[in-house]
Amino acid sequence: MPERITVAGVSVDTRHWIGGRRVASDGTFADYSPIDGSVLGEIARGGPAEAEAAVAAAREAFPAWAATSRGARARILHAIADGVEKRLEELAIVETTDNGALLRSHRRGVMPRVAHNFRFFADWLLTLEHEDFDTRGHTNHVSWDPAGPCVLITPWNAPLMLATWKVAPALAAGNTVVLKPAEWSPLTASLLADIAAEAGLPAGVLNVVQGYGSEIGDALTSHPDVRRVSFTGSVPTARRIAASAAANLTPLSLELGGKSPLLVFADADLDLAVDLAVEQYDNAGQVCLAGTRLLVEEQVAEEFTRRFVEKATALRQGDPRDESTDVGPTIHPRQLEKIDGFVQRAVAAGARAVIGGHRKDDGQYYAPTLLTDVAQDSEIVQEEVFGPVLTLQTFTGEDEAVRLANDTRFGLAATVATGDRERAERVSARLVAGTVWVNCFFVRDLRAPFGGSRQSGVGREGGTWSFDFYCDLKNTVTAPKGWNDHG
Ligand code: NAD
Repeated sequence: MPERITVAGVSVDTRHWIGGRRVASDGTFADYSPIDGSVLGEIARGGPAEAEAAVAAAREAFPAWAATSRGARARILHAIADGVEKRLEELAIVETTDNGALLRSHRRGVMPRVAHNFRFFADWLLTLEHEDFDTRGHTNHVSWDPAGPCVLITPWNAPLMLATWKVAPALAAGNTVVLKPAEWSPLTASLLADIAAEAGLPAGVLNVVQGYGSEIGDALTSHPDVRRVSFTGSVPTARRIAASAAANLTPLSLELGGKSPLLVFADADLDLAVDLAVEQYDNAGQVCLAGTRLLVEEQVAEEFTRRFVEKATALRQGDPRDESTDVGPTIHPRQLEKIDGFVQRAVAAGARAVIGGHRKDDGQYYAPTLLTDVAQDSEIVQEEVFGPVLTLQTFTGEDEAVRLANDTRFGLAATVATGDRERAERVSARLVAGTVWVNCFFVRDLRAPFGGSRQSGVGREGGTWSFDFYCDLKNTVTAPKGWNDHG
């Protein structure tokens, strides 16, 4: 197995990163590019032995990192952010080649935010404080103690972005980390290991292991030395991880799938609503937050659909490296199969494809699709497709809109398009969702809590909520009496 491969001109190490060293495995797995299906390289395929070694390295490095001052930890996190910014172009092109998301988004949006993730949690750490308070003369002092080694498991749809939402607060909090990126897009995690080492992060504080979740996952999530498991991915995997972590009652953070609604009221700015709806095809629909259920008030449904079709059919689908491309490929032939399966079953059950409804002639591309005539209890309305597939249903009045919006097992996000402020407040209050966007979409500030209700997740990430998860919160209660000096 070659130790390094060159991807779009960038040299990437294919081995794990454990205890500050590159480590190979006996086995490998092939990493493909969704752009043209080519093999990018053979990647070290970890199993229980690599999991054990990585957790041992994280355990060993923990006491010193936990004892490192907040200021010194923050400086190293800023140095990692500097490294990300310095290698931004490389990270962007490697990520696009590996997972097929648009290069222009990686360049201008995603990778700058990766750097920001480190800066944000470094700065937040320095302000993390709870005001002391008094109980009958006793002082309560709340502190955030680092928890220990954390296992972070991430998906392929936004690999480095989602990994660093976890890595940055976990490290800032004084923990050590074992990161397991998705097997369909492992490359930028390897580059992050290089960047962190160059930034001066001590050996063993960040470890990266690669491999199939089914082979290495359980050994990581059931390990008795692991103090936190943070997972972003699908509901079925989350169930397995929760069962595995239950052995040691390891606290879990779960960021899972969704089937989010986009509600369009008759009083909405229709052009804005159409823009918001077409935006749901972003990343070929492989976005957990995507508002894939368009719920449109009856009297504007026809006009909305007309304008939507006009806009959506103008989207350019193709090579994600091309600046003019709007919709790229799906990640993997298996994902393409899965998407098409959902659509064909929906059509067989009576749905009508207003646009799309099929694969493109070549490559891993699925045509942006809008399905109507779908029943509320049908698979296509209830299950996450994770592809460029939207459904459209109509409603009359707020009560029906809210009823349809809340009628799935998910609760990740919701978008409301309305021209009426009071309606926006009433409807938002009734929606079951971790995030509600009103007349906008995808605005995300790390100071805000992020996560899902119901089966979309457990816990929240962002600001203090991230530190609450990655730390053992402690309250020290000190009595006014008992001092030798009576002070
Ligand atoms: P997935 O659940 O198949 O895999 C996610 C990760 O889990 C991968 O690294 C995989 O190797 C690992 N894994 C698989 N089996 C495991 C096991 N038994 N033990 C431990 N780890 C295991 O998900 P995916 O297909 O990579 O990602 C798509 C899903 O992620 C969608 O459902 C999407 O909605 C969700 N997602 C959620 C968010 C969010 O923030 N809520 C963000 C992005 C994606």
